[in-house]
Amino acid sequence: MIRYQRNTSLLPYNTFGVDAEASHLFFLESPAGLTDLLDFPGFRKMSDDMSNLLVLGQGSNILFTDDFHGVVIRNEITGINKADEDESSVIVEAGSGVTWNDLVDFAVNRGWWGIENLALIPGTVGAAPVQNIGAYGVEAADVILRVNAFHLEKKEWLVLENNECGFGYRDSIFKRELRNKSIICSVVFRLSKKVRPMLDYSGIREELERMNISEPSARDISSAVASIRRSKLPDPETLGNAGSFFKNPVVAEPEYRSLVTKYPHLKAHRQGDFFKIPAAWLIELAGWKGYRAGSTGCYEKQPLILVNYGGATGRQVLALSEKIQESVVALFGIYLEREVNVF
Ligand code: FAD
Ligand code: NAP
Repeated sequence: MIRYQRNTSLLPYNTFGVDAEASHLFFLESPAGLTDLLDFPGFRKMSDDMSNLLVLGQGSNILFTDDFHGVVIRNEITGINKADEDESSVIVEAGSGVTWNDLVDFAVNRGWWGIENLALIPGTVGAAPVQNIGAYGVEAADVILRVNAFHLEKKEWLVLENNECGFGYRDSIFKRELRNKSIICSVVFRLSKKVRPMLDYSGIREELERMNISEPSARDISSAVASIRRSKLPDPETLGNAGSFFKNPVVAEPEYRSLVTKYPHLKAHRQGDFFKIPAAWLIELAGWKGYRAGSTGCYEKQPLILVNYGGATGRQVLALSEKIQESVVALFGIYLEREVNVF
């Protein structure tokens, strides 16, 4: 029998710490529970309009600006299994409700490489393909072999190989065509047994040096990344936030050249023919770093992160984000696209 609650506060289920109510809240503990969900009396009517359906992981990339007048499916599917291995690699399947960092620990404790740079990213395994989580030079797409999902409209299973997931920079098919239509139930990863440290991203080598480590294991790298993250990022347990509120904008070369002429200190990163501009830098130059208005603000150490100092509503956070977008457009002519999912 699937767990179900009516008119329930989502406060414990989002890291921004905003209060909003879900009309219907289901807790999905196993793929088999999907049958119970679809058979639940009234479910068909509740979810008639699929825009009224939300699959929720740990709510670390979500901002609720209103009550959710529809069905929220809170994903709690657990389990991590080694499915296969050969000399050089290992195939691991993880339930979509597994906490992402538990999967990182599972891998690095066994000396398996590939996700150590993604240590301490909040959220679930099932949300990792959705925005193709990334940090410190690695993306989930680098190690995802396939994604197993259930299409809630068509009521059929989908098996999407890596090249069918439409992965891009913080983007995938699950954010577009399959948004709110499918529930990812498990993700299959190919990890490496061969030592392959990715240390080029700024800060990692320095942190390892500080730890007196010259030949790091995957575990050492995950510890170094975790330590950098703890020193830079607000802990949602004590300060509500959903990580970076905006994506880093990617601009064409002429736009980049004109920016760098005006701002010679700009540190952009080349991506093929384009340049990725740090959104935090644009926001800081626009004067928002450390800004606070009542319960909302821009985190003092990283202005890309909007925070809830306590009691803020989603609408207040959204209003602040819009002011930031306007001022960045006015100053640089660049529109900052939201990374956080707003409901
Ligand atoms: P939720 O916030 O619950 O959901 C996010 C989206 O995914 C929603 O649209 C939801 O409908 C959808 N979704 C979730 N689960 C499923 C599923 N099983 N099936 C289908 N759709 C689903 N992100 C990065 O990429 N890199 C970082 O370094 C990073 N650092 C962060 C640091 C902090 C302090 C915080 C608070 C957030 C950070 N994030 C980062 C954002 C966030 O951790 C990731 O986006 C994470 O993957 C969200 O997981 P979740 O389970 O909380 O998803
Ligand atoms: P940072 O190291 O100060 O770097 C600022 C930006 O420059 C980053 O956003 C990063 O882009 C880019 N960058 C830095 N070095 C790079 C390199 N060698 N190659 C390509 N791009 C480079 O960033 P930070 O805020 O402390 O975050 C560190 C990492 O954690 C980043 O990867 C960031 O994405 C990730 N993070 C993500 C979130 C989130 O919610 N999405 C929150 C916190 C941290 P990329 O973002 O593309 O890496």
